[in-house]
Amino acid sequence: MRALPLFLLLAALPLAADEPVPAKPTPKPAPKAQAHAAPAPADTPDSPSAALAELASGNGRFVAGKRVRTLDTGRDAAMRAALAKGQAPFAVILTCSDSRVPDSLIFDQEAGRLFTIREAGNTPDLQGIASVEYAAEHLGSKVIVVMGHTSCGAVKAVREANGKPLPFNLWALQAGMAGLLESTPQDPNEDAKAHTARLEEVNARRQAQVLLDRSSLLRNLTAAEKVWIVPALYHLASGKVQFFKPLGAAAPAPAHH
Ligand SMILES: [Zn+2]
Repeated sequence: MRALPLFLLLAALPLAADEPVPAKPTPKPAPKAQAHAAPAPADTPDSPSAALAELASGNGRFVAGKRVRTLDTGRDAAMRAALAKGQAPFAVILTCSDSRVPDSLIFDQEAGRLFTIREAGNTPDLQGIASVEYAAEHLGSKVIVVMGHTSCGAVKAVREANGKPLPFNLWALQAGMAGLLESTPQDPNEDAKAHTARLEEVNARRQAQVLLDRSSLLRNLTAAEKVWIVPALYHLASGKVQFFKPLGAAAPAPAHH
């Protein structure tokens, strides 16, 4: 019997599983990783709402051309010395690899403040999800922003392929966005550009939900309101980050747009 193509095998993986696929070895006690987290500096947001507010105000500075935290190069040596002892990033940013989406500048946050995962199309693979779990569980991050962006080449490529497998390893983008096109068909009244724009927002929302679906840890942390998972969309031309309602929480959407 011939083996199934890898694409089919991966596509068939159950979305809800957050257990390793191979047979589980004998369980060992969970390692304590507290030593990785540094004592948080005094100006570190200590709640999901404060963390989101800090991101929103940093983005406001970026939009206004008034960045502060990422301009103070005189502090670099002191910053490195402090960070050599450990990290306490208050936010996780899961976003696209697109070179036009530099999250540190967009949120005006220097090293040590953001724990970033960047993959084309902001579609987290298993290591991406593990990275988010690590930051939330061991580094004390309070908010996880899943940020798509306008003019996303990955979303555009998946849309235009329309189900036909992309070449090389690019098909993995389609696997990561499985169900996106079916969930959001093109409206008869919208052109390709408008449809792509809608897909970019829907993809960010769906990938945020993927984190919840595939991680029992993140489900527990959001249910306890210790962490918020916030879908967002970065607008390339204006520099504005549009935040949507946090998942798994009763929190209202922030006023900042
Ligand atoms: Zn992109």
